[in-house]
Amino acid sequence: MNISGNILINGQWLAGADSTFNAANPATGAKSAESFSNADLAQVDSAVEAAATAFETYSQYSDVKKATFLRTIAEELENIRPDIVERGTWETALPEMRINGELGRTIGQLGMFAQLLEKGDWKRPVIDQAQPDRAPLPKPDLRLTQVPLGPVVVFSASNFPLAFSVAGGDTASALAAGCPVIVKTHSAHPATSELVAGAILKAIVKCDVPKAVFAMIHGSGRIIGTALVKHAKVKAVGFTGSIAGGRALYNAAVSRPEPIPFFGELGSTNPVFLLAASLEQKAEQIAESFLASLMMGVGQFCTSPGMLIAVKGPAFDRLLATLAEKTPTLGAGSMLTAGICDSYNKLCAKRDAISSLKSIAKGAAADSSASQAQVALFSIDATDYLANLDLEEEVFGPSTLVIGCDSEAQMLEVATSMKGHLTGAIFAQEQDHSSAAKLLPILQQRIGRVLFDGYGTGVELSSAMSHGGPYPSSSASQTTSVGTRAIERFTRPLCYQNTPDALLPVELQNANPNGIMRLVNDKWSDKAIG
Ligand code: NAP
Repeated sequence: MNISGNILINGQWLAGADSTFNAANPATGAKSAESFSNADLAQVDSAVEAAATAFETYSQYSDVKKATFLRTIAEELENIRPDIVERGTWETALPEMRINGELGRTIGQLGMFAQLLEKGDWKRPVIDQAQPDRAPLPKPDLRLTQVPLGPVVVFSASNFPLAFSVAGGDTASALAAGCPVIVKTHSAHPATSELVAGAILKAIVKCDVPKAVFAMIHGSGRIIGTALVKHAKVKAVGFTGSIAGGRALYNAAVSRPEPIPFFGELGSTNPVFLLAASLEQKAEQIAESFLASLMMGVGQFCTSPGMLIAVKGPAFDRLLATLAEKTPTLGAGSMLTAGICDSYNKLCAKRDAISSLKSIAKGAAADSSASQAQVALFSIDATDYLANLDLEEEVFGPSTLVIGCDSEAQMLEVATSMKGHLTGAIFAQEQDHSSAAKLLPILQQRIGRVLFDGYGTGVELSSAMSHGGPYPSSSASQTTSVGTRAIERFTRPLCYQNTPDALLPVELQNANPNGIMRLVNDKWSDKAIG
């Protein structure tokens, strides 16, 4: 499929008016035949202005109409699956099976939001009917719903080139909420981004949606990304990337004359706690499953397990011995970009230089010309760890830190020292439940998803999912970026008081024409009201 290298604004493919760049294959260093053009500030302005105009129409779309649009995007993506898989694999060095699976997930996310819209009750309408005779004052009629915020800027992630990128979860949830989207692409996969944007444009045309409901822009984060976040007509931001990048853009979002919500999914080290009986019974098995989780996507999952914590003793020694035995057999893998590989190598070298850290083992040697990462496992005593809490920071890639504690009390101290993480895992047998019960309240304050006897890699699409967590794992811990509740990031509550029935949005009207579940005078009901 032909790649233009252009940006997409208001339904038109345009040459970006700034510099150009080429895509790169991280495994070979080869550059793409096509060059891609970066937008300038005037193009940023025109994309946002057009999106703000499109919002006037799109924000009034019925849920059913938006659902049809999302389903059509999904169909258009499916139609070009082979092209996306070919380009995505070339640009990211991720295996074909992974890109195929991630495309399935992206299509699944669009379908999940379409289904939510079709169900019709996602705004959780609340109706408190008037009590004109209440003393001493009459009670007014109050009706609560959700309304979309306005144009949303979405920053693509490098490590999920589809599911957290152009048509990923942020885009799907913002479009479902009724918000136009302007995507700032990630330079690690521009051709994949263009293919996906082309599928969205086809759906726009097929469904006769205002063209500026979606735009795709290439450009530097510092200049173009910041300008998008600061544009007065942008009303929210969805971001997936590093803590440093997310923090810079968060600061820009909240220091505007009109601050806006910034939903940043940032970095996380995802601690794994091994409790005594579990470790005793399964040390070798846990070591192997841990390595399998760490190796997913060359350690480039935001949910990758970066810390393993247990009490020292013979079972802990068996764990270390198995890790030391198996790790050298693990191959080096190409990372997403040469830059990401470079920063991984620097962080591992920094760890090599810390005297209290011991190297457990390293994987097969890496070929630097192929941007490969060598697996690197370190261990440290908890006392030394507690004196060097910077070690909690994410090392993006296949490295992990095993922390050996003197006692269960020290393990709890390590947990208490932690900041926010996306996931926290506990391996526990029934005999460990009293220890787990002490650990859980500590993790409750620090973790977005607590899981037992497994690892956080693999984030299920579900209405019960939470993908986020206290800072720095995300910048907005009260929300999730995965699952149906992600839609609520891009809406706000609106209360209608004493509003004539005919002027109310359909979900609040007395007749309840769509038969949806509502909280009426504090009781759930799907019936019409008088
Ligand atoms: P990144 O370097 O932060 O890049 C992400 C985006 O931010 C890019 O568009 C980049 O633009 C922009 N950016 C970076 N620094 C900026 C700055 N100072 N000012 C303005 N914009 C800036 O992240 P990445 O390397 O692509 O992704 C890896 C990170 O994402 C890892 O830390 C990983 O854990 C995290 N991640 C988190 C989740 C989650 O759900 N929590 C999911 C996936 C990934 P330029 O390209 O122009 O620099």
